[in-house]
Amino acid sequence: MGGAQAHEPRIEELSARAFVVPTDAPEADGTLRWDSTTIVLARASAGGCTGLGYSYAAGAAAGLIEELLAGALVGCDALSPPAAWQRMRASVRNIGYPGVAASAISAVDVALWDLKGRLLGVSLADLLGRVRELVPVYGSGGFTSYSDARLERQLAEWVERGIGRVKMKVGSEPARDPERVRVARAAIGAAAELFVDANGAYTRKQALRLAEVFAGESAVSWFEEPVSSDDLEGLRLLRDRAPAGMEIAAGEYGYDLFYFRRMLQAGAVDVVQADVTRCGGITQLVAVAALCASAGVPLSAHTSPAIHAHVGTALGPLVHVEYFHDHARIEALFFDGLPELQEGALRPDAGRPGHGMELRESDVERFQR
Ligand SMILES: [Mg+2]
Repeated sequence: MGGAQAHEPRIEELSARAFVVPTDAPEADGTLRWDSTTIVLARASAGGCTGLGYSYAAGAAAGLIEELLAGALVGCDALSPPAAWQRMRASVRNIGYPGVAASAISAVDVALWDLKGRLLGVSLADLLGRVRELVPVYGSGGFTSYSDARLERQLAEWVERGIGRVKMKVGSEPARDPERVRVARAAIGAAAELFVDANGAYTRKQALRLAEVFAGESAVSWFEEPVSSDDLEGLRLLRDRAPAGMEIAAGEYGYDLFYFRRMLQAGAVDVVQADVTRCGGITQLVAVAALCASAGVPLSAHTSPAIHAHVGTALGPLVHVEYFHDHARIEALFFDGLPELQEGALRPDAGRPGHGMELRESDVERFQR
């Protein structure tokens, strides 16, 4: 140790692949239906190590990584992910940043932080600096395409595994939603917290009425995207008028800091949601957390539980990570070295460099696009 090294590691190669994984049953929420999920994997290498990152994004993100981002990054200092982030951000100026490009940059940024951890031989949690050892999760699924029996079974199983809060989708059939929510409450018992996510399906008037019904009948304590997350005034209206004990949450489609600042300045949410695989990776999620701290608003991580478990150890305002059925299933299929789920929280393995996850190559080749 000691003394500057003659040659700091330089990024030598950046590559990407897209995989399409069928769901285990048709899935739907208030505004979308799907039967497969695409995961885009980015790999960055330097100094004999390889970092791995991913995003649940369009397959086009893989093409964008190889076409635009690789050229911008090869030769850059592998120990400076924020500098790499700035180069990536600049490289997509003319094609537009939010959406596919932001998802591609997010996947690469995670790969670069993982690479840095591996090069230095420290875990991602230690690299970022831990404020907690365990990252609490909530179980998330309860798709509107599920039968009541499947809904009951899924939510009850999470609670039996020690997860104290679970989330279901609503909004496909507003007239039937109160009944589905009552079924879910009966299945999980009185002690667990029950969250609902409308994915922006309701009108303001529907959402106001259903907030009362969900809270009154089923003690729902979290109402996510009751109206479109672009309707900041509508979210603010719900936040001010919803029963005490019910939090309003949104933010999963936030790609840049301006988005989160606008949402916070509008007073639109009780809890900000952000997704490391969309919002610009770890480099930007850390900044989103600072924005939340500055506004005194908690942060909840949206989906991708394996990555969020690592970065979540370092984010002061973080309250929980979404243990999303689809992604928990895909991550278990794709990677060895996942953070362990115990008593409703994820514990990243501090003994493995980076995030410590390795691709199970032979098990996933069949899904490659
Ligand atoms: Mg959501």
